[in-house]
Amino acid sequence: MLKGVNASEGIGIGKVMLIEEINLDYEKRKITDTQKEIERYRKALESYCKKTESQAKKIRDTVGEKEADIILGHLLMIKDPGMSSSIEGNISAGCCAEEAVAQVCDMFIGVFSMAEDELTKQRASDVEDIKTGLIATLLGKEEADISCAPANTVLVARDLTPSMTSCIVKDNIVGIVTEVGGKTSHSAILARAMEIPAVLSVENATTILKNGQEIIVDGSYGEIIENPSMGEIYAYKDKTVIFKKEKEELQKYVGRETLTADGTKIDLYCNIGKPEDADTVISKDGEGVGLFRTEFLYMGNTSIPSEDEQFEAYKKTLLKLSGKPLIIRTLDVGGDKDIPYLGLNKEENPFMGYRAVRFCLHRKDVYAPQLKALLRASVFGDIRIMLPLVTCLDELLEFKSMLKKLMEELNSQGTPYNKDIPVGVMIETPAAAMIADVLGKEADFFSIGTNDLTGYTMAVDRGNPDVAYLYSPFQPAVLRSIKRTIEMGRENSIPVGMCGEAASDPLMIPLLLAFGLDEFSVSATSVLKTRKIISMWTREKALEVAEKAMSLNTEKEVVKYLNSVVKV
Ligand code: PEP
Ligand code: MG
Repeated sequence: MLKGVNASEGIGIGKVMLIEEINLDYEKRKITDTQKEIERYRKALESYCKKTESQAKKIRDTVGEKEADIILGHLLMIKDPGMSSSIEGNISAGCCAEEAVAQVCDMFIGVFSMAEDELTKQRASDVEDIKTGLIATLLGKEEADISCAPANTVLVARDLTPSMTSCIVKDNIVGIVTEVGGKTSHSAILARAMEIPAVLSVENATTILKNGQEIIVDGSYGEIIENPSMGEIYAYKDKTVIFKKEKEELQKYVGRETLTADGTKIDLYCNIGKPEDADTVISKDGEGVGLFRTEFLYMGNTSIPSEDEQFEAYKKTLLKLSGKPLIIRTLDVGGDKDIPYLGLNKEENPFMGYRAVRFCLHRKDVYAPQLKALLRASVFGDIRIMLPLVTCLDELLEFKSMLKKLMEELNSQGTPYNKDIPVGVMIETPAAAMIADVLGKEADFFSIGTNDLTGYTMAVDRGNPDVAYLYSPFQPAVLRSIKRTIEMGRENSIPVGMCGEAASDPLMIPLLLAFGLDEFSVSATSVLKTRKIISMWTREKALEVAEKAMSLNTEKEVVKYLNSVVKV
């Protein structure tokens, strides 16, 4: 059995179609007539853009708007003056067009792939896609056409580029296997949007698996069974029936309020990274946005997005949400999220360093345009501002005084904004959890970021596999921080949410209900399942489970116990 990342749920049984990579070898030529070479590049660029636009149209018609936007994002990147002028600059210096494209793209790929978080790394694969597409166009070569794949095909590729995906005939493709990509990679997003089971990051998949070979792709568990026996095929067919039934069953939660079994109303929001994600929030029946990671607006650019650009992005998101709340987290740069053009110094200890609200409060020239954009957009809907990585009251107070000054500026310009815009704090450091009683007096809401809270509480670098065994939100130390934060929120009569990944964990949900969490913010694809699980717990039962779980002394005991009472 081969193992990989379970990127898109479901089971596919079919025959392998290997997607060969195009040979992009080219001769490095020294160019003397650089103007002619620039013209050659511009022609290739034009034809690449045209092809990409038509692929995007195809994806829009067959898959959806959001997925088409992924591929259109390539156009924005390549049309960005920074990228194209660097390429032309290299040609002017005597490189042939292929080499100039490769050099500039490799520079971006290097920067993006150094990031530790999956979403930033994903930008590297976008640039890789642009590089392949452009060089192939310059060489007059075509990417593999998978539109002719027969029924029951499992696509196996090193990476599945969005442009390849545009050729997928959904009814014929029963599974996707790639050697790279994680849960948040675009291949994963597209596979989930098309509801095709996918297992990604399977080492050496393209050499181990052979064309025509029969395999089973278990996208729920990230497993691949090669040459399955009849017994295995029957067993997996049964699992498929159960999976389909469960999915159908979840549909009955569409349009329902999120209520516990004894009728307590819970807010069920989503985490997003760009305005277009708001479409999925609506289509998956999310009740709002609990975390907009605005750093992705910055990462998708080659310079700081202007106040107007940000204003348009926030306004667009709000309009898509038509009245639903939108919690926007201000720029969370640093740590695992590098934004090269901000010119942050290399640090010995980036997670403990000059990042997030610390950076922003020092670099008011960067922060002010974002805050003004947020204020200006606030008249178009229910925007709430959230600060990342707060560790002391001073940061919140300094932020509030900065916001006040910006409000005065807007007053003097006669620009309208919501004067009562709520300002909340992410509780994602042990310091913030410890002083939640103090912060609660100044903040309008809390949102618990368990991804970081777990790392900082356990003093564990989440990218380090040697200490990964300690990285669990079920560690008693983390659970106590969560409980305390919710209690302090209640004491100060402010709502408390959770936007870390733990919010959709079926084992965590009863504890959060017992502690009194008001709002769960999860990925859009987890909305219905989370709504279902919440609906299965009464407060009384959740309290009983939480009391027992909190009396246990080790993470292993807690997880074992919660597994014995879990409802799914
Ligand atoms: C968190 O830390 O839990 C969180 C939601 O923020 P991010 O994952 O963006 O660091
Ligand atoms: Mg965080």
